[in-house]
Amino acid sequence: MSSPLPLVFDAPKRGLPPRHLADLTLAERTEAVAALGEKPFRAKQLSRHYFARLNVDPAQMTDIPAAARERLATELMPQLLTEVRSVECDDGATRKTLWRAHDGTLLESVLMRYPDRATLCISSQAGCGMACPFCATGQGGLQRNLSTAEIVDQVRSAAAVMRDGVLPGPDGKPAPGRLSNVVFMGMGEPLANYKRVVAAVRRITDPTPSGLGISQRSVTVSTVGLAPAIRKLADEGLQVRLAVSLHTPDDELRDTLVPVNNRWSIDEVLQAAKYYIDRTSRRVSIEYALIRDVNDQPWRADLLAKRLREHLGYLVHVNVIPLNPTPGSKWDASPKDVEREFVRRVNEGGVTCTVRDTRGQEIAAACGQLAAEN
Ligand code: SAH
Repeated sequence: MSSPLPLVFDAPKRGLPPRHLADLTLAERTEAVAALGEKPFRAKQLSRHYFARLNVDPAQMTDIPAAARERLATELMPQLLTEVRSVECDDGATRKTLWRAHDGTLLESVLMRYPDRATLCISSQAGCGMACPFCATGQGGLQRNLSTAEIVDQVRSAAAVMRDGVLPGPDGKPAPGRLSNVVFMGMGEPLANYKRVVAAVRRITDPTPSGLGISQRSVTVSTVGLAPAIRKLADEGLQVRLAVSLHTPDDELRDTLVPVNNRWSIDEVLQAAKYYIDRTSRRVSIEYALIRDVNDQPWRADLLAKRLREHLGYLVHVNVIPLNPTPGSKWDASPKDVEREFVRRVNEGGVTCTVRDTRGQEIAAACGQLAAEN
């Protein structure tokens, strides 16, 4: 089926920042350092500072001679993101940061600390072109893709915040911790910025000092369901978790909730998800933003379970997300009893289903809200 939506996998280069260490593989870094007339082993030194010590301050890179340090930092570690502000809630355990890129573009990431883990929600694009009507980011359209390094630097920065013990630990007092999980559930459609997102995943998960050393299994890529890109991701040989934002089991409603459904229908998306399961042996997550009187009917719960079982078997889990209403939206979350019944029916239909915890509601942590306010 043809669609009027502009769906470009590796869209405009407009506004991309200068080259950064984190755009490059270790081999490419070594070449870049040599091209600058410096000793090739400096690439590993720089990488250790950035990926292992999470350090971007040249003054602290004292193992590199001052002149070389200055030049290498300028050429390979330009500052990409400047913090505009951070807001906290959940007694400080949730922290949302608004960043400004070199060209003034705004993007955001959210760090959530739990007793046993810390999860960072990152942006893959500034804005988003997918136009889902319930999503704050979707209302403003796509500004531009983020570069690989702009994606990676959100993670480096949060890993440093965790290490430095800025957020309260299990006993409520600020304590050092480790960034354990990364989810591509901030601004943007990760699979519409495919090449840079996959490179970022490798940089986030490669062992130090090649990358940040976070486990692949602890990284989640969430997509509206760009079926061909899901299949491509399945063939990358990665063990990342795939989340598919389904939001309803019928094409008629999904055409309006997730407009890209006009291009790739639910069947096509679920077939691609099945291919992902077959290639990776990983359980796929289905995201379902529950919207009062829109997609929360018992029959939709039954149909959801049925279609997921038919297409995906048992390697699937449904995450119900109570709708976080965006300013000016006519939609609201479902009442709790309706939500409970929905979850019960999906489970009864043979598909595990839980309600996602809703951190950060009062700091407008719903996708894109902080950037929209600015
Ligand atoms: N573009 C990707 C990733 C970003 S959004 C995707 O769509 O999957 C991450 C999740 O938050 C998606 O499931 C999205 O549908 C959901 N979401 C967006 N706005 C929301 C809102 N206002 N309330 C609840 N969930 C929302």
